[in-house]
Amino acid sequence: MAAAVLEELAALSRRYGSKPDWVLAGGGNSSYKDKKVLWVKASGTSLATIEPSGFCEMDREALAAIWTRTYPAESAAREEAALADLMAARVSGEIRRPSVETLMHGFFPQAFVLHTHPSLVNGLTCGKEGEAIFRELFADEAIWVPFVDPGYILAKTVREAFEEWSLKKGAIPSIMFMQNHGLLVASETPEGIDRLSASVVSRLQGRLGRSPDSTAMAVDAGLLAATVSRVAALAPKGSFIAHRADHDILAFAASKEAFTPLSAAFTPDHIVYAGHEFLYAPAPDALELAWKDYRSRNGSDPRVLSIGGVGAMAIASTQAAASTALALFQDAIAIAVYSKSFGGALHMTADKIDFIRNWEVEKYRAKAAPQGK
Ligand SMILES: [Zn+2]
Repeated sequence: MAAAVLEELAALSRRYGSKPDWVLAGGGNSSYKDKKVLWVKASGTSLATIEPSGFCEMDREALAAIWTRTYPAESAAREEAALADLMAARVSGEIRRPSVETLMHGFFPQAFVLHTHPSLVNGLTCGKEGEAIFRELFADEAIWVPFVDPGYILAKTVREAFEEWSLKKGAIPSIMFMQNHGLLVASETPEGIDRLSASVVSRLQGRLGRSPDSTAMAVDAGLLAATVSRVAALAPKGSFIAHRADHDILAFAASKEAFTPLSAAFTPDHIVYAGHEFLYAPAPDALELAWKDYRSRNGSDPRVLSIGGVGAMAIASTQAAASTALALFQDAIAIAVYSKSFGGALHMTADKIDFIRNWEVEKYRAKAAPQGK
């Protein structure tokens, strides 16, 4: 019985996971639950390719018991203790590692839960007027969760928002918007998930001014080759370099002012797969100086470059990781364009960016198979 429904969950997950405007790389997750068990995407798997064997079996009673415990106030100790309890809440014999967002899935009584990071939705969640427009469009049906550190604190914040909403409205929410993060929809059936997702998209599209324009643009071949050599000389030895030029990439690279909406991270995905800060150079001639400045401020090499007249380049130790970084940069561009319809770009704050940078090193989901476009 569970086998057939896990096939349904896997098919639903792949359908959304294979659309780059819904989720990229290892981002997002999905789940199905019955009375006793919650099956949730395991860490290190991608929604785009998930099979029924990619879901981790969790004991719902043990998950609920996590909320009766008290954790240390210090963030590293707290996350470690909560993670240990999450691992212990697996059904006995389970060896896969549950997604860090598992706790969130458990609050929704609906059978199917799909959590994605769509660029259109993130135009709203990364918009200065995003929350106000959310209230106009969705407040009777959906929850808004402010940006907090991922992991236990995020789950706790969602739990409180969920309880407050249920008390006020006397109903169970089925849509949740997470600031600088993404979307969650919950339904008894995959068709219900599709209906809710389509309704979110059409209401947001009704408020859009301009949409992203990713029409590919030609760059002078000699200039491109010369720029790639410059970048190769600056990048760590043996790096792979991926390049793309399209309408929006070149428009944002046109000047420092034009680049401002991309000057800091929008969501944790961007930090994990494309670095916490993109390097901007107004022209290839400015690369060496911009690189030196980047290194002195960040103590590390940039992973994505935006170069006036040339376009975007991503640098990584494998071709796949370079393509993924470039895809995340394009996602940031789409969010920047969409956010213009929702009050303009709202970035993550410096302390929240730092939390992800430090957390990522040890625990974050970067193990997911990189998925280029
Ligand atoms: Zn997420």
